[in-house]
Amino acid sequence: SSVLKITDLHVEIEGKEILKGVNLEIKSGEIHAVMGPNGTGKSTLASAIMGHPKYEVTKGSITMDGEDVLEMEVDERAKAGLFLGMQYPSEISGVTTSDFLRSSMNAHRGEGNEVQLMPFIKQMDATMDFLEMDKNMAQRYLNEGFSGGEKKRNEILQLMMIEPAIGILDEIDSGLDIDALKVVSKGINKMRGDAFGCLIITHYQRLLNYIEPDFVHVMMQGRVVKSGGKELAQKLEAQGYEWIKQELGIED
Ligand code: ADP
Ligand code: MG
Ligand code: MG
Repeated sequence: SSVLKITDLHVEIEGKEILKGVNLEIKSGEIHAVMGPNGTGKSTLASAIMGHPKYEVTKGSITMDGEDVLEMEVDERAKAGLFLGMQYPSEISGVTTSDFLRSSMNAHRGEGNEVQLMPFIKQMDATMDFLEMDKNMAQRYLNEGFSGGEKKRNEILQLMMIEPAIGILDEIDSGLDIDALKVVSKGINKMRGDAFGCLIITHYQRLLNYIEPDFVHVMMQGRVVKSGGKELAQKLEAQGYEWIKQELGIED
């Protein structure tokens, strides 16, 4: 089993401190949700884990099974078992969804363990069926003219094919209609199990009606200020964030 451990993480963007000491531990087998108001640093956390060059870690650590993630190149992070959704959010011209999927699978599997073409196609077809995706999608250029929902399904397709030890999914639910949301949730729920851990970052509670988290964390002003079980998400849905601010004496 794997452990992603984030300790006292401080991150700056262009000299401005955004994360001010984040602590989180995600083990395979666990589904964690990070929630919080807009602008509190949730996406910054995802970007720092994935090694976005604009985000400077000034203090603290990120380790995967004891190995220093901050020292790893992006492809090494993949090989260590980390999957970072939205890694390639833009269009990449000339690369089909299928090509991209196969090369990202191979990046995770490593040299000498590449997936063969026929088993790859079989698995891709079955997974696309499961996610109710149009088969033509596989031959379309990556993200070119994809709708928001198609991009998200594609991300879950990637997740299911790669089978990472730990997945980080930022705003997988934003802009999705209810049918797409259900399909995306179905994919994540299918992944659930001892070998898979997940950090789901969301601004909304509604995704958590479909994916029951084991742990819920609230981020405010660059820190995880509260953690609990799924009942915490329900309380946030009903009461918003104000009560946490009052409880902790946080001012805007
Ligand atoms: P969240 O995902 O919780 O909505 P973000 O991590 O996107 O929050 O943003 C946290 C803060 O960092 C915000 O104040 C935002 O304006 C700032 N920020 C995020 N990305 C950048 C960037 N690329 N350049 C400058 N400031 C940024
Ligand atoms: Mg935001
Ligand atoms: Mg965000």
